[in-house]
Amino acid sequence: MSTARELPTAEEFKNEVLEVYPPKIAKKRAKQIIINKIENEDEVPQIMANTRTIPGIITMRGCAYAGCKGVVLGPTRDILQITHGPIGCGFYSWLTRRNQTKPETDADVNYMTYAMSTDLQEDEVIFGGEKKLKAAIDEAVALFHPKAIGIFATCPVGLIGDDVHAVARAMEEKYPDINIFGFSCEGYKGVSQSAGHHVANNKVFTDVVGLDDSFSKPGKFKFNILGEYNIGGDAFEIERIVKDCGLTLHSTFSGNSTYQEFSSAHNVDLNVVMCHRSINYLAEMMDVKYGIPWFKVNFVGVEATSKSLRKIAQFYQDEALLKQTEEVIAREVEEVEKIRLDVKSRCEGKTAVLYVGGSRAHHYQELLKEIGIDIISAGYEFAHRDDYEGRKVMPSIVVDADSRNIEELHVEADEKRFKPRISPEEKAKREAEGFAFSDYNGMMPDMPASTLIIDDCNHYELEELLDRYHPDLVCAGVKEKYVVQKRGIPMKQLHSYDYMGPFAGYKGAINFYKEIDRLLNCNAFKFTKAPWDESPELSATYSVNE
Ligand code: SF4
Repeated sequence: MSTARELPTAEEFKNEVLEVYPPKIAKKRAKQIIINKIENEDEVPQIMANTRTIPGIITMRGCAYAGCKGVVLGPTRDILQITHGPIGCGFYSWLTRRNQTKPETDADVNYMTYAMSTDLQEDEVIFGGEKKLKAAIDEAVALFHPKAIGIFATCPVGLIGDDVHAVARAMEEKYPDINIFGFSCEGYKGVSQSAGHHVANNKVFTDVVGLDDSFSKPGKFKFNILGEYNIGGDAFEIERIVKDCGLTLHSTFSGNSTYQEFSSAHNVDLNVVMCHRSINYLAEMMDVKYGIPWFKVNFVGVEATSKSLRKIAQFYQDEALLKQTEEVIAREVEEVEKIRLDVKSRCEGKTAVLYVGGSRAHHYQELLKEIGIDIISAGYEFAHRDDYEGRKVMPSIVVDADSRNIEELHVEADEKRFKPRISPEEKAKREAEGFAFSDYNGMMPDMPASTLIIDDCNHYELEELLDRYHPDLVCAGVKEKYVVQKRGIPMKQLHSYDYMGPFAGYKGAINFYKEIDRLLNCNAFKFTKAPWDESPELSATYSVNE
């Protein structure tokens, strides 16, 4: 509830939160809790990001395996995915993000409904698991004979030294018509799931993209969307809109995607990037190797969707396409506007905090602002400085041991297939006119001054935020959900949405407005009393001290 309660300033909050930490930890967290300030040319304060979580702090982050298999590759439909590791890694990365897919016919394969794992046991941890992995591939081929198999390494596999790449090569010799590739995405690699995204990008780029020069979808204006994972049907809604505009969506990396779409993705003229953090590497590499330009889009929020559609249409500089795009925007916005204004009348002035993803905490601010909700604080779990401050800071990002752990591919223009889709002169001309390529301005320049930006927010800091600011809404992940709800604060899970969707595009905006309206204006949360408010918390002492 928003009331006239005296709320701490961002400075007061930061100082009080840091007070409880030991000095060394407080010093580090001080660089990750930033009070926003925007100066000339969108200059914002520097934030420390993509560094290790301090042991003992309850982080909201996931592991590299989750980023590689769970996020980037998980939503693909017909790449058979085998988790080489204990069953828990495989099971808990299986469909937890509610990715959807739609095979074109009933005869088309769909492996998303299967969780496949080598189910590593003690024996394999001691004597090695490669034999079991080969047996799993034999079994998968006998059952499904897929076009491609991805093998995902987990922590124990890295610790015992199983070589998933050697197994992939050996099994590819045995089954030459199947593309078999491994991902070194052991959970402990890097500081968060972000490392797994990078590993996934690299392997998809070297082993899949560019294999099929012949396949192409019909249409004049072909493009790929990178970093859209079709959670709750988001990609379906985006596909609907872009098709109406007259565009051809060749491949979505990776929501509702196929192996064929990936392997022929270099045959398009444009890449647009939704989730900058998880897939900007692939966009960059495709630009260098094939000459496909990219720019950032956002299909979350009505204004953002319209802006993104216009930018894509402007790229092709085709009058008919521009006209058709404007007609679609006018038609869709008219439908959304009535609902938006109605919902806004009940939500205006409410407050929210967001801790999610490496792009979502930025994207979803659009939808919240559209219904009059103010953002008190936002942050990412696994972002890098460029996601906060913009890509302009990339040259100044210090490469540490953890980042060095992830291979940085050296990419060159393909001798035969490099074809700049627009000439360097034309690109420079458009950039001079304000059309940004290969760029992302980051979240902080879009947020008001004096708001709190918190990287890798932990449970203690989140609880302090809730106690001191009493936000009306929290948008975060499943690990934070119950802590928030038990306090009687509505919580929208933005990793998988828990239920509902799509929230992208125009119809998605309507769904989101209605969902937030229901959450903020229903009485249920007012009756919720946190158990720790009524009964004392458990306390204990260390027996060694007695
Ligand atoms: S951290 Fe390691 S063991 Fe845990 S889910 Fe990730 S890969 Fe599996």
